[in-house]
Amino acid sequence: MSPLAARLAHASLLDRRIDLRFGHRYVGAERGAARFEAHPAVNADLVIVATGARPPQWLGLAAARDTVSVAADGGLAIRSDLRSASHPAVFAAGDCATFIDQSVPKSGVHALRQGPVLARNLARGLCAANGGAPASALAVAAERFAPRRWTLALLNRCDGSAIGAWGPLGFAGEWAWRWKDRIDRRFMARFDQDDEAPGDTAV
Ligand SMILES: Cc1cc2nc3c(=O)[nH]c(=O)nc-3n(C[C@H](O)[C@H](O)[C@H](O)COP(=O)(O)OP(=O)(O)OC[C@H]3O[C@@H](n4cnc5c(N)ncnc54)[C@H](O)[C@@H]3O)c2cc1C
Repeated sequence: MSPLAARLAHASLLDRRIDLRFGHRYVGAERGAARFEAHPAVNADLVIVATGARPPQWLGLAAARDTVSVAADGGLAIRSDLRSASHPAVFAAGDCATFIDQSVPKSGVHALRQGPVLARNLARGLCAANGGAPASALAVAAERFAPRRWTLALLNRCDGSAIGAWGPLGFAGEWAWRWKDRIDRRFMARFDQDDEAPGDTAV
């Protein structure tokens, strides 16, 4: 996130007297204390371990069994066309996948936008496979996923205000919370009206 927004988030946590520890590997809780690798235990009533998104362990095991390429973060290694880097007939998208030819953060905004590309590429792949096309023909037919350069992130501060990040910009205020509330409500209302997933909404 932008350094400006990160500073706002940091200040907001410190204001609430939340004890922050960065870069320590959490190994478990014991008798009211959170334990870390190579770091003293921390007594706490509530510990929040913020690790970022990681694909489930079973995916890595299955990929290893089937010799499908896995990226360093455990995600299936894919190219921009959402195909596995090692097996072009394997497709992956969203948080379980890691692009090897571009940088795409794991977030709902990007996962949502990959959906339609995945659907179209699967359809193309199936059509080509039905026609007996070789793997190279499938690769030519595939559409590439191009992430937006900047996406909007709005963090609820739970005090009637929100922090926003958009590219290098960072901002905060009650207006940002009202903005987030409107976006979230509009997003959820689309599920109420029909069962189709919304394809193009910034979350
Ligand atoms: C609390 C929270 C808040 C978030 N808020 C935001 C936000 O405001 N904006 C934003 O952009 N992103 C947000 N994210 C991130 C966003 O939710 C994810 O990036 C997004 O859901 C990824 O979509 P996905 O389809 O790749 O994976 P998921 O939504 O995780 O879907 C994976 C699905 O696979 C299923 N599954 C797992 N294992 C198996 C199995 N063995 N067999 C069958 N099914 C299985 C799971 O049950 C799940 O339904 C948030 C995430 C969290 C946890």
